[in-house]
Amino acid sequence: MNLIFTGPQGSGKGTQSIRVARKLKLCHISSGDMLRNVKGRLKIKINNIMDKGNLVPDNLIFKILKEKLLDSKCKNGFILDGFPRNINQAKALRKIVNIDKVIEIVISDKEALERISGRRICVKCGAIYNINNSRPKTGNICVKCGGKLISRKDDNIKSIKKRLEIYHKETEGIFTIFNSIKINGEKSADIVFKSIIKNLI
Ligand code: ADP
Repeated sequence: MNLIFTGPQGSGKGTQSIRVARKLKLCHISSGDMLRNVKGRLKIKINNIMDKGNLVPDNLIFKILKEKLLDSKCKNGFILDGFPRNINQAKALRKIVNIDKVIEIVISDKEALERISGRRICVKCGAIYNINNSRPKTGNICVKCGGKLISRKDDNIKSIKKRLEIYHKETEGIFTIFNSIKINGEKSADIVFKSIIKNLI
């Protein structure tokens, strides 16, 4: 089963796609994580684009992703988290793989802004927290692995607003190519998880 998870920033698509991938034994492919992990001379160029909340060029993201999509380790299928983000990427994707379902997690911009400004990420294991509603008892330390919790550099108000604008202007355009299953993302993480699974099996 090949899936796309999409939704505005802060909708929980990262958290949910990791959880669903584990349950259904699919590869979790996050374009944002792949870009954050790029090493070498491209890193500075990519960081500059990401920190401002802009999209990296389509050819670059596609080059980075293509290998992973066709990886034999993902033969059970995959969840794409953060890709495609515009019509061009959706068309390119459709040419190389079949997509079975698209999960669209819906939240308002107001909720998105609130959630992202409270988002903290573990530098070691990537676990995601929100200090506004679930501040870990350990303070700035990850409950799962003891790593330090930080704010992502692009999680500042200016960049968040820019990313939401791009989401509405460009990413929502992919729904002219792929039909989506809408999931209410403003419920608890467990309820959102259950409603996604119900739509997949
Ligand atoms: P968020 O969904 O909160 O924006 P991501 O980790 O998915 O977080 O993406 C972070 C940044 O990575 C984006 O703002 C963009 O700069 C870049 N990026 C991720 N996926 C893509 C993509 N498919 N095309 C272009 N840029 C991307």
